[in-house]
Amino acid sequence: MLADRLSKIKPSPTIAVSNMAAEMKAAGQDVIGLGAGEPDFDTPEHIKAAAQQAMQDGKTKYTAVDGIAELKQAVVDKFQRENNITCTRDMVTIGTGGKQVLYNALMATLNPGDEVIIPAPYWVSYPDMVLLAEGTPVTVSCTEADEFKLTAAALEAAITPKTKWLMLNSPSNPTGSGYSFAELEALAEVLRRHTHVHVMVDDMYEHLVYDSFEFATMAQVAPDLQPRILTINGVSKSFCMTGWRIGYATGDKALIKAIAKIQSQSTSNPNSIAQWAAVAALNGPLDFMADNLVHFAARRQLVTSRLNQIEGINCFIPHGAFYVYPSVAGLIGRKTPDGNIIETDSDFVTYLLESQGVATVQGTAFGLAPHFRISYATSTEALEDAMDRITTACNALS
Ligand code: GLU
Repeated sequence: MLADRLSKIKPSPTIAVSNMAAEMKAAGQDVIGLGAGEPDFDTPEHIKAAAQQAMQDGKTKYTAVDGIAELKQAVVDKFQRENNITCTRDMVTIGTGGKQVLYNALMATLNPGDEVIIPAPYWVSYPDMVLLAEGTPVTVSCTEADEFKLTAAALEAAITPKTKWLMLNSPSNPTGSGYSFAELEALAEVLRRHTHVHVMVDDMYEHLVYDSFEFATMAQVAPDLQPRILTINGVSKSFCMTGWRIGYATGDKALIKAIAKIQSQSTSNPNSIAQWAAVAALNGPLDFMADNLVHFAARRQLVTSRLNQIEGINCFIPHGAFYVYPSVAGLIGRKTPDGNIIETDSDFVTYLLESQGVATVQGTAFGLAPHFRISYATSTEALEDAMDRITTACNALS
């Protein structure tokens, strides 16, 4: 009954963990969910009001498949204002989340055997989306010594005549590591020598950066490469709008048209009301973000300091996003009170869930083990409780 392509992929592990934690909670179990990558803050009121107004005004019909002109214009203005990227409305597409834009772009461009370079650790869906589009994911391991970032030398070594795309995600899901302007410039130098390689940039966590880290994106760093870059972003994380499902991108006109062609035969337009809400988000005030960032920064501090106090855990201090990606290399080989040996990060994550009711995601899902991902986009009380529980679980290992 099922198609062969299903056997190539797995269900999204981040969504699987979130669903499992929600089900356990609904069944009355004491679970702290640190799996889902979504802000616990509500969507700002002015954005909700715009959605209500859109409904009142009857903006409830089909729209252009790849988005209303008003939202495309808001995206054009955002790229110019915040990223110094110049584009026009016909270089912009709107999708049902950044996820759909990524998927459509891969479906629109990959032929069987085309390679996509994916620096690991990566967001769980990149390799599986490439496989669904009949491409070949080429993962390049990026170590903590390099702050989990792709170096120019590693990029150079991974490029072959079949390379179609390089995926870049900064700040990163799952590590929170971000590329500096200079690091992107070094990658751009390599890309200038390989004119057949395109770059798919996922900037979903752009506004969530800490300390003195300055966000930069490839099309801003290397405007000469802009025709080869698809810059993807969305309102989900920065504007606390995960459920509204609005993502967008700018790229070459022909690619933008091809993405719309795929969308026209699958989902049609993204939700019309959510599009109007996204117009209000992009054109509106950003002061709520600064407030949210104060909370996220305090939680980052709490989580990294508590984790680094645990013997056997080593946690990189991220530049952005709301994830940490600690190594559990120091715990591998230890024994749980039930007599099970922790052989992998999946064993560790299972142990945390079963012994302490803390739901996290195994590093194996993100392509670099032995690590695990914690989303700290949850209340400070829940995080404090979770850190106590993780400490108890680790101290109980022998
Ligand atoms: N991007 C979020 C995460 O990594 C949401 C879930 C998903 O689509 O993977 O947790």
